[in-house]
Amino acid sequence: MRLALLLPLFCLPAAVRAQPARAEVRLVVLGDFPPALVDAVAAGLARSLEVRVAPVGRAPLPREAYYAPRKRYRADRLIEHLAGQLREAPAGTRILGLTSVDISTTKGPHADWGVFGLAHLGGPAAVISLHRLRRNARDPEHLRFRVVSTAVHEAGHTLGLPHCPEARCVMQDAEGGIANTDDGTGEPGPACRARLDVLVPVR
Ligand SMILES: [Zn+2]
Ligand SMILES: [Zn+2]
Repeated sequence: MRLALLLPLFCLPAAVRAQPARAEVRLVVLGDFPPALVDAVAAGLARSLEVRVAPVGRAPLPREAYYAPRKRYRADRLIEHLAGQLREAPAGTRILGLTSVDISTTKGPHADWGVFGLAHLGGPAAVISLHRLRRNARDPEHLRFRVVSTAVHEAGHTLGLPHCPEARCVMQDAEGGIANTDDGTGEPGPACRARLDVLVPVR
């Protein structure tokens, strides 16, 4: 009887999987994240990167990622934690964590540097944080733009896109500030689009 109940559930992802896309990106809320912004990220990733987005719910922040000296979470550890959730996933699946807590990584001489988001180039997992994006956001629409741009940027890294020198491209290096994000289009430019078509063609 249980099998009969499960079968229709498995039919749904199969139908969704038939849509052409570059890859599947799973979204996981780590701790808390505003639901309206989860929806905005899902729509933005699907539109800008042509990926299939699968929101998979919410998980607690892993304790091992907490960095007590600065009372924040290490983004590298969050990424490792997220990548671990893909063990059973089909090859090529990516995962993006969304969180509201401050996150940090080691950057050059800075042992613990706060960031908007983090991904390793071509790695399966990325994370973004609302904490710094909220600062001096003019209004909810501006915050939404920043959040979606940052999500597209980090997910772009998981698809293999490095930083891009093209003005206003979403893959420009944030260079430790929010100005490039705010001045950007929020979309990959022509060079990055062409690169995506080679790295992860829509199929
Ligand atoms: Zn980057
Ligand atoms: Zn670009």
